Amino acid sequence: MPGWRWSWTPPGTGTWSWSPSTTWADGREGQVSATIEPEIGWVQEGLDHLATLVDPSLPGWSRTGFSVQDVEGRHWVAQQMRAAGLSTHVDAVGNVIGTFEGTAPAAPAIVVGSHSDTVPGGGRFDGIVGVLGAIEVARALRRTGTRLTHELRIVDFANEEGNPQGVKLVGSRAIAGTLGHDHLQATDEGGVSLADLISRAGHSPEKVHTCRWDRAGLAAYLELHIEQGPVLERNGAGIGVVTRVCGISTFHLDVHGRRDHAGTTPMDTRSDAMCCGAAAVLAVQRIAAAGSDTVGTVGALTTTSPLTNVISNFARVTGEFRSPHMAGLRALAEELEADIPRLDAAHRTTSSLSWGHTDPPAVMDRHLSDVVVGAAATVGHEAVRLYSGATHDSVQMSQLAPAGMIFVPSAGGRSHCPEEWTELTDIERGVRVLIQAVLDVDTGFAGS
Ligand SMILES: [Zn+2]
Repeated sequence: MPGWRWSWTPPGTGTWSWSPSTTWADGREGQVSATIEPEIGWVQEGLDHLATLVDPSLPGWSRTGFSVQDVEGRHWVAQQMRAAGLSTHVDAVGNVIGTFEGTAPAAPAIVVGSHSDTVPGGGRFDGIVGVLGAIEVARALRRTGTRLTHELRIVDFANEEGNPQGVKLVGSRAIAGTLGHDHLQATDEGGVSLADLISRAGHSPEKVHTCRWDRAGLAAYLELHIEQGPVLERNGAGIGVVTRVCGISTFHLDVHGRRDHAGTTPMDTRSDAMCCGAAAVLAVQRIAAAGSDTVGTVGALTTTSPLTNVISNFARVTGEFRSPHMAGLRALAEELEADIPRLDAAHRTTSSLSWGHTDPPAVMDRHLSDVVVGAAATVGHEAVRLYSGATHDSVQMSQLAPAGMIFVPSAGGRSHCPEEWTELTDIERGVRVLIQAVLDVDTGFAGS
């Protein structure tokens, strides 16, 4: 093989992108091509088709987990897997799994996956690009008559985005064996449990133990995903390789004040739960902004009464913190806890802070990430390493196998909104890297 020297040429218009023109050591010039090229037209058709399976009562492209549209979408995904030559099955919580046997039956599986459900009011790319990209890996192998040594296992994980019961990563938790009784018994405001939600979609949550995978049978986990943030676009980069995925701590703060007349109670004697709650919202913002790579969000500030002529005697602040490091999450929690007595003193209220589940940050496998960076270079793209502030099924899968993620740019860094957009050329680049990464893992990755 001749020596490689990469020369990056900017296109005539717009921002920089890396055009993979290559100069060989002997002076020959040529276009680098992947070992196997994706059929991006099929991916485009898949994106278009899934964009038709949406809940008309919600804004954007909504296909929430276990909804009628989600069940229909997964049925279509399973069909596509079978058409690509995979054997499929749907497990007890609705994960759609396709397998393509390798030439060495005893070799552990290379798993490639993502999710096809969306948040309410979400977009057309989050998760979907990874599911279609994974199926395109299988299609491309079949098209070219390529057999892997390892089994290729493709997953459309059930309900990655979470539900009104407050549980995210449902399918990958079940596979990792971390979907517990408490998760399944969590209820929404109407008293419907997650187990009920899963049952109503035709699955069997009581058999969740059957979903669990044995880590001995797994070589690696790879996921292609849109970045959902602005880093790649800001850096003019076409491919990201994820180093870590954020950890998340959720909380709710219950504030007790005193119900009084809004017209006659002087401002300096009030015990206004709403005002303390509002101050807590801003405290979350201030604490998270002061950290490094940390974020904090309040999703709801609710009170018992919507009346303007009554001072609120109760408020609930529901929020979360995220950090790339467990120590960062702990520091955020400690700061909020330290702030509560000050807020109570200022508002003459009594508050109690309760922490929900903490999902620890996940570290993507260093060696596997190097393989992905190498795969990107092989097909002519320089990869940028970055941290993911969005959580992914890879967090759960990293507990079972070395995990790695490939990111492609999100226009304007927008995601979880109808405006979410990734250019087809960016998706094509991502799928090309994914195919090459699977080939490289098959031939050269021994695990870390
Ligand atoms: Zn996603």
